[in-house]
Amino acid sequence: MIVLNTLEKIYLSGSEVIPNEKISKHTSIEIGGKVKALIVPNTVSSLLRSLEILESNEEEYRIMGLGTNLLVSDDGLDVFVLKTERLSAFEVKGDLIVSESGTPLKRLCEIAASLGLSGMEELYGIPGSFGGAIYMNAGAYGKEMKDVLEWVELYDGGKVERFSSKDLEMSYRKTSVGNRIILRAALKLKKGYSEGIYKRMKEYLRRRLEKQPIFEKSAGSLFKRPRPNFYVGSAIEKLGLKGFSVGGMKISEKHAGFLVNSGNGKFEDAIKLIEIVREKIKEKFGETLETEVRIWR
Ligand SMILES: Cc1cc2nc3c(=O)[nH]c(=O)nc-3n(C[C@H](O)[C@H](O)[C@H](O)COP(=O)(O)OP(=O)(O)OC[C@H]3O[C@@H](n4cnc5c(N)ncnc54)[C@H](O)[C@@H]3O)c2cc1C
Repeated sequence: MIVLNTLEKIYLSGSEVIPNEKISKHTSIEIGGKVKALIVPNTVSSLLRSLEILESNEEEYRIMGLGTNLLVSDDGLDVFVLKTERLSAFEVKGDLIVSESGTPLKRLCEIAASLGLSGMEELYGIPGSFGGAIYMNAGAYGKEMKDVLEWVELYDGGKVERFSSKDLEMSYRKTSVGNRIILRAALKLKKGYSEGIYKRMKEYLRRRLEKQPIFEKSAGSLFKRPRPNFYVGSAIEKLGLKGFSVGGMKISEKHAGFLVNSGNGKFEDAIKLIEIVREKIKEKFGETLETEVRIWR
């Protein structure tokens, strides 16, 4: 009888497996070294089977959506990474949209609009997956995921449980999801009119396009606001750091709240630049900045 290794077992569980994959191919900022393997489950069942194998073999793993909020070390990580991109089945039940976690948020907004369901217009254009948006409590223009989320199904050490969104203690770019995995969730929307919804979505998208470096390689806003009325982008601009760079990493010329990879940017350049900005903000404004971007090293 052949003894199968973890990779082979995961492959047999129905997930795609890419050994030694470079994560830079999967992050919007195009940074990140190799991991043991990238695992791409085809269904929630194959994800659960893969998790069982990883856990019974005591393998370390992490989960990613579409990699639009991640900064991963160029040295790579000795872990398996599960990517939810193929978990995109959804169904509509009246004013509820129930979707798996890998569906792009933008796609869910468009589905809602086509059905005349209102409530997510402000969130249109936030890149990334539904699961990533829930994990981060993503938001824009005064609306956050917590405002439209009804329930979330989480995987936690062999168990799958449904929680009301209130149980997840969602606040500004923060939830209590922790090491649990979001499998699927429901959005509660309100009946409206498709035409008006589309119009509002386009308006928010236009505002985003005017202000943000949409077509550059970034991971979104670099830092969280330390308090409600302190706008990090404006503060960085006041420090004269717009366009400031370390190696190939640069503070965006278009929006000083964004860190962009302007060419051959390296993880260490990004970390140096983050430290410089944090120090200068502390010195000038007395505020301590926390990164919004998730750093994996
Ligand atoms: C140009 C640009 C504009 C942006 N604008 C905004 C904005 O307006 N507002 C905003 O809030 N964000 C914004 N972002 C940041 C980012 O798009 C969001 O945070 C997004 O929700 C992340 O989703 P993702 O699928 O890419 O997550 P990833 O980057 O893949 O992961 C982010 C975190 O979520 C966790 N995660 C992902 N999926 C799951 C899951 N299924 N279960 C458990 N944990 C999971 C990961 O482990 C990681 O810790 C922007 C980014 C870019 C590049």
